[in-house]
Amino acid sequence: MKDDTFHLDSVPGGHFIGGERVEGRAEIEVLRPSDGGVMGTLPDASGDLVDRAVRDAHRSWLASGWGTRAPRERARVLSRWADLIDADADALGRLEAIGSTRPIAEARAFDVPFTAECIRFFAECADKFGGDAVPTQRDSLGLVLPEPYGVVAAIAPWNFPLMMASWKCAPALAAGNAMVLKPSELTPYSVMRLAELAIEAGVPPGVFNIVQGRGASAGAALVRHPLIGKVSFTGSTRTGAAIMSDAARHGTKPVTLELGGKSPQVVFDDAGDVDAVAGRIVRGFTSNAGQACVSGTRLIVQRGIADPLIDAVIAKAGALRPGPTWREPACFPPIISETQARKIHAAVRQTIDDGASALCGADFFDCDGGGHYYRPTLLAGVTGESLAVREEIFGPVLTVQTFDDEDEALALADHATYGLAAGVHTLDIGRALRATRRIQAGTVWINRFGRTWDFIIPTGGFKGSGLGKDLGRQAFEANLRYKSVLIDF
Ligand code: NAD
Repeated sequence: MKDDTFHLDSVPGGHFIGGERVEGRAEIEVLRPSDGGVMGTLPDASGDLVDRAVRDAHRSWLASGWGTRAPRERARVLSRWADLIDADADALGRLEAIGSTRPIAEARAFDVPFTAECIRFFAECADKFGGDAVPTQRDSLGLVLPEPYGVVAAIAPWNFPLMMASWKCAPALAAGNAMVLKPSELTPYSVMRLAELAIEAGVPPGVFNIVQGRGASAGAALVRHPLIGKVSFTGSTRTGAAIMSDAARHGTKPVTLELGGKSPQVVFDDAGDVDAVAGRIVRGFTSNAGQACVSGTRLIVQRGIADPLIDAVIAKAGALRPGPTWREPACFPPIISETQARKIHAAVRQTIDDGASALCGADFFDCDGGGHYYRPTLLAGVTGESLAVREEIFGPVLTVQTFDDEDEALALADHATYGLAAGVHTLDIGRALRATRRIQAGTVWINRFGRTWDFIIPTGGFKGSGLGKDLGRQAFEANLRYKSVLIDF
């Protein structure tokens, strides 16, 4: 798989504080997931550096009046930012693709414009949602007034670096907050370009900052900082719990947690065209090589349609060809790191050792060149106790369970730990709506699987999949706190 078609003159390293790059000691080596080559290095922010960034953000927030200026003015700046991102789609898409698991064609056509459009959506929210004048005692006026928190911390994962950053930063900035973002140490560079474009668009220097580094050092210091008013996190359920506990112990600050998932795809006999359904199932668990929080990793299929559907899924999944993210047309992308690739394979092996059988995959593609590419894998003969059913694997692994009736299907769909998303495939509207009511998940997709460009639809999990929402009006409002005012005449 040797390929020389990638090339970057330089990568934007260092932190971003006060409107400019701040270099630090190179402590972390950043690898290209596609071939394991070194892309650059990264500092690991110390407590002192994080303190400097947060204090600077707080000072800039006050001095610039970002939180008190006319909301339409904030909206104009953020819209300009979105336009600059669109104009930079080629370079930004390239940076994103080379440094992550996102195929370049998808990064250009989807991740970058989706990021810009997300910022536009929240820019438009800036003057659309105000407070309330509420009914109170005689001769008085009650007001409930929204205000920004001040400095919001965002901590992001590696799977969609630009998009995840925009989900966090756009609503916080539109609501009038300053931001300090810590991207994943595995995918740190594309958001640095985002920050430069923010300044070019007119976001006051110091209002959007980035600290780089590891979770346990830079991330934890950010969460614990006394001037951080709110924490917005996307990542694993385990880290989310640590952050929630840290936020409780260091200032009782609110947290939004977008965490892991184990989303079911429930297919009834009456789901319609088998080939079309198989296409949805395959996209649902192989997109970004399964490294998506909403990945549909549990196929729950009615017995009457099981054999033809599973055959079609195996055929489609088996046709995917691996390749580096910079190759066009898009190939099946790599696993983000060797550690993550090992974890995926160990979970698959453990599930097989415990009695499951592999219908396809269950191993790496034979590729030389340094990256780790895992074959789309179907595991049958699993139970609710199987590791691959219980735990998020974050790779292209689909478990298969069959059912006879609706009750059994919905009992299987309900997961003990997670409740992020679910797909229901049936042409019977009554059945679809009954399932929607019963399924314990933050998002239910009927006869589709995956997001659209409808930013008004919030995303977020039930149970161990999270707390609060990204996207939608809810994400904007979650970046505001409410002050009650009572005025006697
Ligand atoms: P992760 O939890 O390992 O890391 C996420 C971020 O948290 C990184 O920036 C990391 O450096 C930081 N971090 C780690 N420990 C920390 C600590 N103690 N304090 C503060 N910050 C800390 O997750 P990941 O491997 O980067 O991402 C994959 C996970 O993200 C999966 O579980 C996936 O389901 C989840 N995810 C969820 C959504 C959603 O919307 N629900 C979206 C994307 C990814």
